[in-house]
Amino acid sequence: MPTIQGALILDHLTVGPFQTNVYVVGCSHTKEAAIIDGGGDAQGLLAIAEKHELNITQILQTHAHVDHVAALPELNKALPNAPISLHKADKMLYDHAPEQGAMFGYPVNPLPSVTTWIEEGDIIEIGDLRAQVLWMPGHSPGSVIFYFEEQDTMISGDVIFYGSMGRVDLPGSNPEDMRKSLKRLRDYPDATRIYSGHGPDTSLGREKQGNPFLSQDW
Ligand SMILES: [Zn+2]
Ligand SMILES: [Zn+2]
Repeated sequence: MPTIQGALILDHLTVGPFQTNVYVVGCSHTKEAAIIDGGGDAQGLLAIAEKHELNITQILQTHAHVDHVAALPELNKALPNAPISLHKADKMLYDHAPEQGAMFGYPVNPLPSVTTWIEEGDIIEIGDLRAQVLWMPGHSPGSVIFYFEEQDTMISGDVIFYGSMGRVDLPGSNPEDMRKSLKRLRDYPDATRIYSGHGPDTSLGREKQGNPFLSQDW
């Protein structure tokens, strides 16, 4: 079901063997939209945009793990003018997506080039919506959260999940960075809705209480 918060339209699909959540985030005023994580089911993502009468103008990546990027070749064919944004610290993972895929038994075609390297503090515009880029490394070196402050909404990728956090035992993971990222996340408002890369959505308040990786030092 789509969530509508002011100008923000948010809808998602759960795709692939890792049950990855991939999102369409659109502005109800201008009808511009972004895909956040081209992880799978390109046609399904395009169908969601059509259902909400949204025009996909860009693709934003929370990070470059294979289950979040596997549909980018097909999406890039369908949307050749939509820039692809990724944090530069995930360049290595992105460039080696086919090898990453092989490691997980997950065939991936070579990916289209990244158009825009994003970093901490960048503001991304989607129509009238504004998303801040929060660099939250740990799960991967270039993991980011897209924070729509006005709408109290975060698209968190694999930084935080309902009751849990992203793995920190993968190539490029760093538990110490993850600890710092989650500590930083505690400073944001409890009312913030969190839409994760895996599992159900939650709120930051709920996670500050019930998520052992966020509620206490580890
Ligand atoms: Zn991941
Ligand atoms: Zn993932």
